[in-house]
Amino acid sequence: MPIYSGNIHSKLPKTGTTIFTIMSKMANEHNAINLSQGFPDFSCSKKLLSLVSKHMKMGHNQYCQLQGVQELREAISEKMEKMYSAKYDPDTEINITAGATQAIYTAITALVREGDEVIVLEPAYDCYVPAIELNGGIPIYVQLKGTDFHVDWDEVQKVISQKTKMIILCTPHNPSGGIMNASDMQKLEKLTRDTDIIVLSDEVYEHIIFDGYEHQSVARFPQLMNRSVIVYSFGKTFHVTGWKIGYCVAPEIIMKEFRKVHQWVVFTVNTPIQYAIAEFLKDENSYLGLYDFYQDKRDYFIELLKGSKFKIIPASGSYFQLLDYSEITDEKDTEYAIRLTKEHGIASIPMSVFYHKPVDNKRLRFCFAKEKKTLEKAAEKLCVI
Ligand code: GLN
Repeated sequence: MPIYSGNIHSKLPKTGTTIFTIMSKMANEHNAINLSQGFPDFSCSKKLLSLVSKHMKMGHNQYCQLQGVQELREAISEKMEKMYSAKYDPDTEINITAGATQAIYTAITALVREGDEVIVLEPAYDCYVPAIELNGGIPIYVQLKGTDFHVDWDEVQKVISQKTKMIILCTPHNPSGGIMNASDMQKLEKLTRDTDIIVLSDEVYEHIIFDGYEHQSVARFPQLMNRSVIVYSFGKTFHVTGWKIGYCVAPEIIMKEFRKVHQWVVFTVNTPIQYAIAEFLKDENSYLGLYDFYQDKRDYFIELLKGSKFKIIPASGSYFQLLDYSEITDEKDTEYAIRLTKEHGIASIPMSVFYHKPVDNKRLRFCFAKEKKTLEKAAEKLCVI
């Protein structure tokens, strides 16, 4: 077969395989416990499964409207009002997406033009920057500070310019497990007032927050809500990351642009699952139970690691716990993550990969969305290091 001999001028020359895929593959090859890529190793609710099969059997198997199934958008609208006292019109301000990553890509594509600057807080989840760059945008990096990974708003203020089109937030934060508080939101409100800056808020871990903290959605702050696209994930909330279903909310004027792109990217999302989730959401325990469920896992994992050489600052949210290994070795985090997988049978994610210029704080990210017995086996290995 002749092979293509033309010149592909890569639009993403720096992009390789994601760290999550690399580490999961390495975990499989070395038969290691996989606490790297964030996904649960337990199953979702049986009720949810039977609702999906019910709606398939009922014949909900064809395309739905591009914005998503009406019943689901209505359920989301009620949930946003109940959780954050925020009013979103199900017809014009809510869109179902094929996961949060698609929502993020679509929002950036709809809103960021060549030469626009987008403020990215680092460490940053890996899908933000490629989406900015594919659209000709320029990422402007600001590092989160301290062991709680808080935002230094003075630094953010310094990088805001006429060209700033967007700032991307993530709270609860992947990969650090940090959270933003109300004062962060108030500061952002002040900084963006009298500007055209759009806030893209990745809140996929909204229901996984610990120690009595409340999730500070940008939706709680009317001045921010007016300029924000907020992205959520049913995969995270219902333990079904492989279903790739999420949604985003935004004021009509922004959502209109989002939908123009959405219809060319995916057109619509899996219909029967949307009907099933619309029904499942009627029981608020389907998501409100998540705080205790995951706090229990975080606490259990930390307790099991007492006596190990790792330093632990408990995560405030998300299902990721950072472990500081500086007392064990001064190897680079990328090298130590590989060695941990190959020699000790535990896969994790090195934090330095979430920076555009690697910052190595000797920390690894471990996913605790796992059965207790998985956490026990993992801790057993970590405690003998
Ligand atoms: N969100 C998952 C994580 O942070 C990874 C998803 C993916 O593999 N792209 O681990």
